Amino acid sequence: MKILVINCGSSSLKFQLIDSDSEAVICKGLCERIGIEGSQIVYTPAGKDKITKVEPMPDHNRAIELVIEALTNAENGVVKLEEIGAVGHRIVHGGEKFTKSVIINDEVIKAIEDVSDLAPLHNPANLIGIRACQKVMPGVPMVAVFDTAFHQTMPQDAYLYGLPYSYYEKYGIRRYGFHGTSHSFVSKRAAEILGKDAKDLKMIVCHLGNGASLSAVDGGKCIDTSMGLTPLEGLIMGTRTGDIDPSVVEFIMKKENSSVADVTNLLNKKSGVFGLSDELSSDFRDLEAGYNDGHAGARRAVDTFVYRVVKYIGSYTAAMGGVDVICFTAGVGENSGFVRKLICDRLGFIGAKIDVEANKVRGEEKTISTADSKVTLLVVPTNEELAIARDTYALCK
Ligand code: ADP
Repeated sequence: MKILVINCGSSSLKFQLIDSDSEAVICKGLCERIGIEGSQIVYTPAGKDKITKVEPMPDHNRAIELVIEALTNAENGVVKLEEIGAVGHRIVHGGEKFTKSVIINDEVIKAIEDVSDLAPLHNPANLIGIRACQKVMPGVPMVAVFDTAFHQTMPQDAYLYGLPYSYYEKYGIRRYGFHGTSHSFVSKRAAEILGKDAKDLKMIVCHLGNGASLSAVDGGKCIDTSMGLTPLEGLIMGTRTGDIDPSVVEFIMKKENSSVADVTNLLNKKSGVFGLSDELSSDFRDLEAGYNDGHAGARRAVDTFVYRVVKYIGSYTAAMGGVDVICFTAGVGENSGFVRKLICDRLGFIGAKIDVEANKVRGEEKTISTADSKVTLLVVPTNEELAIARDTYALCK
């Protein structure tokens, strides 16, 4: 079966067409600037050159039409419309309602709408993507795959904030966690690589990308993760603060005479390693170069980022009563031996030893710990689209 995977944002739409048998990507691409002047679709059929078409896209319906046209056109299409057997949608927030992927029906759409106040920027965009596909591809089964689902096994101790309990009951204010599809994919794959049953492993997954989160996966189940009600909590990220004393918000508002919206924007878009480096960059390639050149901001940003990761690894080791495997994934985790080494060099207290030669790996599965390391250190590239395609196939085959 050919599965179309859709990741729909407010003004963009990423897609991949995946063959469920071979798990090969047949075509992947992106619609940009939907509803804005200058919109375009950029896509790459497997083994061919990138194609860019500048096309007006007043809304997501038109974007989906253009995706279908790109995939099925006579000249360089890769599939017939009737061959697309199912569509998998990435949905950011499933609240407490969704603990796994589900086939989309009216009830599911309503439930996604009901939790939209928890992800006001993302869920409405995800729903627009679903409705646009329903319009353009009526009758094709669709599946919702939630970023929060994998973390729903967290125990109450891990997901509650120290707020009055009634706020959890009334408004659902708790920690949910994100990147769940990636944490799930990587932890399962790590067990496969090691030839072990996930049930017998205590793992920490470090998803270090522009957004970054850690999860503690004990016996195959997530027992804690670093993001919270929103993706702002936890690690220091590309441009997000991660953990911060909430009083900082009011303090900055008074000092700078700014609004809640201004400070929220500051915490999400101008902070993290970008802010710490004096706006040198949010990209770890630039920060590594700066670090090696002795740029004070780059050093400060990288060291603070690394410290926070190490602190979380320590706390998750305590939470699980030990750790067998630490996995590195996403843009930084997969590609930056520099960052991995800085982190692992501080993990001597759990008996982890990095193999400097193996750590040169980029973007491939590899064990990067020494033979005598007490903890296995692994690089495991994530593949959220494939995980979505697998769940979609499993529910629709
Ligand atoms: P997201 O999906 O959160 O946007 P990714 O997982 O794609 O992020 O990660 C993007 C980040 O990965 C970039 O901002 C950059 O910091 C980092 N990155 C990518 N390639 C490299 C590399 N070769 N070395 C260091 N960092 C890299």
